[in-house]
Amino acid sequence: MKILVVNCGSSSIKYQLVDMKDESVVAKGLVERIGMEGSVLTHQPTGHDKVVIKTDMPTHTVGIKLVLGAFVNPDYGVIKSMDEIGAVGHRVVHGGEKFSASVLITPDVMHGIEECIDMAPLHNPPNIAGINACKEVMPNVPHVAVFDTAFHQTMPKYSFLYGLPYDAYIKYGLRRYGFHGTSHKFVSQRAAAMLGKPMSELKMITCHLGNGSSVAAVKNGKCMDTSMGFTPLEGLVMGTRSGVIDPAIIPFLMKKAHMTGDEVDSYLNKKSGVLGISGVSSDFRDIEEAYHEGNERAGLALDIFAYKVRKYIGSYAAAMGGVDVIVFTAGLGENSATMREKICENLEFLGVFIDHEKNQVRGKETNLSAQNAKVQVLLIPTNEELMIARDTNEICNPLKK
Ligand code: ADP
Repeated sequence: MKILVVNCGSSSIKYQLVDMKDESVVAKGLVERIGMEGSVLTHQPTGHDKVVIKTDMPTHTVGIKLVLGAFVNPDYGVIKSMDEIGAVGHRVVHGGEKFSASVLITPDVMHGIEECIDMAPLHNPPNIAGINACKEVMPNVPHVAVFDTAFHQTMPKYSFLYGLPYDAYIKYGLRRYGFHGTSHKFVSQRAAAMLGKPMSELKMITCHLGNGSSVAAVKNGKCMDTSMGFTPLEGLVMGTRSGVIDPAIIPFLMKKAHMTGDEVDSYLNKKSGVLGISGVSSDFRDIEEAYHEGNERAGLALDIFAYKVRKYIGSYAAAMGGVDVIVFTAGLGENSATMREKICENLEFLGVFIDHEKNQVRGKETNLSAQNAKVQVLLIPTNEELMIARDTNEICNPLKK
């Protein structure tokens, strides 16, 4: 069975067509600028040249139709007919407390996703638009929702509650949900497979370090804590996000800098993080380059980032009563040997020793630990699309019988 994996933003559709026979990617691509001037589809059939189609795409439905047309195109098509697509897996950012696993999309599920809009006003509406568009064009195949928050639903109450009045949780759902769950789940499963041990015997700390970054404590295969919270703003210092700050800074900025609530929100989400500290860029490649050219604030941004990740690793080791495995993944975690080494400095007391030579690798599954290490440090490229395809396959395969 081939599965279409779809990730819809407000003006974009990222997709992959995955053949579950061998989990290979048959085609992938990106629709951009939906509803704007200059909308474009960049389609990459595996083993063929990239195809760029520039045409008006006023809605997600038009975009999806174009993608499906590309799949069956006589010149560069990858399937003969649409019947080869057995199911569609949709990435949905927020599943609140309703969804602790991937689910077949029914009218009830759609209602549940709509109820989470308040908590993810920028993400869930385009996810819903994507689901509706795909259902309109592919009404006869099952559609599955895979949530960024689902993997973290195993967090115990003492881990996910804030120190706010309990009413805030009951009335408004104010609690920590966590994000990047699909990635944390994928790499923790891969880590267990790489080490040849069952998840049930491992205490893992998975570090998803990219533009947005989060760390998760995964004990016996279950998430028990993660650094992102009610929104993806909590936790680590990120590309442009502040991560954890003293909440009293918010009313202070509103009074002193005469900012509105929305302006503070944008300040913390878009102007802070390593961008705000360094004044250089949100991209770690630019910051590392500036640091090598002698830019002190760039060096400071790298130090702050590594220090925060290290603190989370230390606290999660304490939370789980130890740690067997640390995983690095996502853009920065997979590519920056310098950052991995910097984070692991001073973790020797936990038994973390990485091998300098092995650590020079990029984007390839590797055990980076030195021989004397008690903790296995692994580099595992994440693959959220494959995780979505696997979950979709698992849910839809029994439906066919
Ligand atoms: P997201 O999915 O959150 O947008 P990614 O996981 O794709 O982000 O990570 C992108 C980030 O990874 C870039 O902003 C950059 O900071 C970092 N990155 C990618 N390659 C490198 C590299 N070679 N060295 C340092 N940082 C890198």
